[in-house]
Amino acid sequence: KTSFAAQQKDTEVQSKRGYAAHNSDAPYHKDVLERYMKNNPQPKDKSIATYIWIDGTGEELRSKAKIVEKEIERPEDCSVWNYDGSSCYQAEGQDSDIFLHPVSVFQDPFLNNNNRIVLCETYRSNGKPTESNKRKSCLEVMNKVKDVHPWFGIEQEYTLLDSDNHPYGWPKHGYPKPQGPYYCGVGTNRIFGRAIAEAHLFACLTAGVANTGTNAEVMPGQWEYQVGPVEGIDMGDQLWVSRYLLHRVAEDFGIIVTLDPKPEDGDWNGAGAHCNFSTDGMRAEGGIKYINDAIEKLAKRHIEHIKMYDPRGGKDNIRRLTGLHETSSPTTFSAGLANRGASVRIPRQVGVDKKGYLEDRRPSSNCDPYSVTEIMIRTCCLNE
Ligand code: ADP
Ligand code: MN
Ligand code: MN
Ligand code: MN
Ligand code: MN
Repeated sequence: KTSFAAQQKDTEVQSKRGYAAHNSDAPYHKDVLERYMKNNPQPKDKSIATYIWIDGTGEELRSKAKIVEKEIERPEDCSVWNYDGSSCYQAEGQDSDIFLHPVSVFQDPFLNNNNRIVLCETYRSNGKPTESNKRKSCLEVMNKVKDVHPWFGIEQEYTLLDSDNHPYGWPKHGYPKPQGPYYCGVGTNRIFGRAIAEAHLFACLTAGVANTGTNAEVMPGQWEYQVGPVEGIDMGDQLWVSRYLLHRVAEDFGIIVTLDPKPEDGDWNGAGAHCNFSTDGMRAEGGIKYINDAIEKLAKRHIEHIKMYDPRGGKDNIRRLTGLHETSSPTTFSAGLANRGASVRIPRQVGVDKKGYLEDRRPSSNCDPYSVTEIMIRTCCLNE
């Protein structure tokens, strides 16, 4: 078996295939690290701030750590820092410094103690946001609609790969049995990587990320977790941090996480990031009226949304939105009650209650949640 969709991707992100060396030593390394941490207690007056940011791909995360001599509670407690943009697909070598502006602070579930993960926005030396900084404009839009209290919940799907880039738990030659028994399954022949999904849940809870559930997906080795509902800019912040935590947790298991929206061609489900959305009006008695209004507006801007729903302007998502495997069409908008083949679905319970939220099923698993939530507000609340 040779065909992995990851192999066919046409971007530099693709190069990750080249450096996935065998990494089954990872759990052993972690044990040794714990011995050092136990024998060398961290000084009380020093904390480790791990700054994390989105690199030039708009899809992958980077991080670096620094020791600071104070307690970090809020982003204002952290200084502006910088990194080499030329090593992150973001800048030329002659002018490569990119600035890290701390925007949100989370408890570090790996180093614990008073150590923190610090989510950052990226800026060029001329003060402009980098191309992959989608947060700045998202925040500006969120600030305009504070009074309607926009809530989002994103269902993040992902696929586990063995360190050889082969889907985790799949036979090394040939394919697993067809889809059917795996979704929300139980048992050694159905479930691959449950410990990773559960470790990630704990890491999110410690960090302060609103991970509200997880389930095994339709394709073997594929999983989902849900973040939210959370308000405004927190959706993007929390989802990005949850992804960082997921990649880090998987490192400890020697397993790779891919957010590719269609990791396997053929009769295998792709991976999405359904975006659930509501406003005060939608959540109040009779709110179905506002939900239907929003769907009408969404119908008129299908292509604009598709462009924002993956990091390659819609190209990535075309591989996934085939109309099969509970997906819709990249070119035609559709909506329906309890319809998992539609662009936008009104959940059955929302239909019964006549209030609640809508589910946009179009965003791909590797979408930037800042772009997704921004256009949702622009279309549904700002009438663009
Ligand atoms: P399904 O798999 O049936 O589509 P899930 O239970 O996986 O649904 O996900 C439901 C999502 O909807 C969760 O992310 C949750 O945070 C979100 N959600 C629930 N209520 C609201 C609401 N009022 N506004 C926005 N999102 C919501
Ligand atoms: Mn250096
Ligand atoms: Mn779900
Ligand atoms: Mn799902
Ligand atoms: Mn869903």
